[in-house]
Amino acid sequence: MVQDCIFCKIVKKEIPAEIVYEDDHVMAFKDIHPAAPVHLLLIPKKHIPTFFDLTDEDVSIIGRVQLAAARVARQLNLEEKGFRLVSNCKEDAGQLIFHIHYHLLGGRALQWPPG
Ligand code: C5P
Repeated sequence: MVQDCIFCKIVKKEIPAEIVYEDDHVMAFKDIHPAAPVHLLLIPKKHIPTFFDLTDEDVSIIGRVQLAAARVARQLNLEEKGFRLVSNCKEDAGQLIFHIHYHLLGGRALQWPPG
């Protein structure tokens, strides 16, 4: 946990979020600025700033985040049409919060490639 990290604060329930899934390692909550009918953020509870900070011991955590994405998407009836799972890494990708997170977007046809 890092004290001034907003997502660590959400994990600790120090600031509110619309949490839709939580287990020992992963949390999913609604993005406050939704870009699609379904727009969730999936995060590891462990504070890892970017993909460049991952170590071998984090392999299972990242796997758990992706499994949780599929689980939550299924609960939201996205299995038939699908969804997008994207993660912005550092400046050029537009990463604003330096705690690894995946955007889960769905509920409409999405454009590709992103801008
Ligand atoms: O990938 P990036 O770091 O740019 O995205 C951060 C996302 O976190 C934004 O989509 C923003 O709306 C979301 N956010 C949130 N709740 C907060 C702070 C940011 O859903 N309290």
